[in-house]
Amino acid sequence: MFTCAAPPCANPTITGYVCGLCLGRLDGDLVEVADLVDELDATIARQTRTGQRVGSASAETGLPFNDGAAEVARDLRSVLSTWVRDLWETHAPRRIVLTGTTDADGRPVTVAELDPLDLDDTLPEMAAWLRRHPSWIEDHPAAGELVDEIGDAVERARRAVDLAPARVYCGPCPDCGADVYARPDRALVRCRECDVRHDVDALRAALLDAAREHLATAAEVARALPRLLGRDLSANTVRTWARAGKLARRSPDERGRPLYRVGDVIDLALITPTRSHVTRDVAESA
Ligand SMILES: [Zn+2]
Ligand SMILES: [Zn+2]
Repeated sequence: MFTCAAPPCANPTITGYVCGLCLGRLDGDLVEVADLVDELDATIARQTRTGQRVGSASAETGLPFNDGAAEVARDLRSVLSTWVRDLWETHAPRRIVLTGTTDADGRPVTVAELDPLDLDDTLPEMAAWLRRHPSWIEDHPAAGELVDEIGDAVERARRAVDLAPARVYCGPCPDCGADVYARPDRALVRCRECDVRHDVDALRAALLDAAREHLATAAEVARALPRLLGRDLSANTVRTWARAGKLARRSPDERGRPLYRVGDVIDLALITPTRSHVTRDVAESA
């Protein structure tokens, strides 16, 4: 008898590394994936359209939109595909293949080959595949992590869809530090944690000001910008701007990667029209 490896569960398990309850919860999470993907796609499309207004009227009011959906969809994809690959490599039967050569005693030399996994690389297909392999999951030494990571990614997708279409990220609450999201049409927002009311524009201005002086790599800027400005920006775009001389490279970090001032990137992003690259990025990573 073991203890279930999925945190924070401590149920005893009869067989395998995770308990039946956690496997059941995982199955429920995986069932939801197909619907969540549709909702996320709709959210991303909506946010892409919204993002196109940044730089005109809505930018003047200083109201970037919360844009977590594209990132959340990418995370979900990466978590599912990582575990599909891991399970396949751990459990799939090997095929014994003749190499066509013989050893010193004249016996044919063979190798054990893993067949490539025949699976459409879409989120619903990957989720369905995982549901078809509960015993592979149960018997995987890292089953606890698998259940935890997939549960977390699905929960984030649920929240990204709930927050849509347009909650404005206002940064941390000055009183308690909790993340504050406001409806875009409101001037005041009440912190859900401590109940204190704040002025949305003041919070947003403080958030952008605090970010402006930071130095960050292209990848870090690409991760931060959706929350700051409500639009997607690829690390590649940042590098392209730098190559074109529009954006100054600061001294590199200790690993030699060029750093950029976040404020410089924000200013450039604000004067550069958005294309509908959010949706395309997702499609390309498919
Ligand atoms: Zn459990
Ligand atoms: Zn608060």
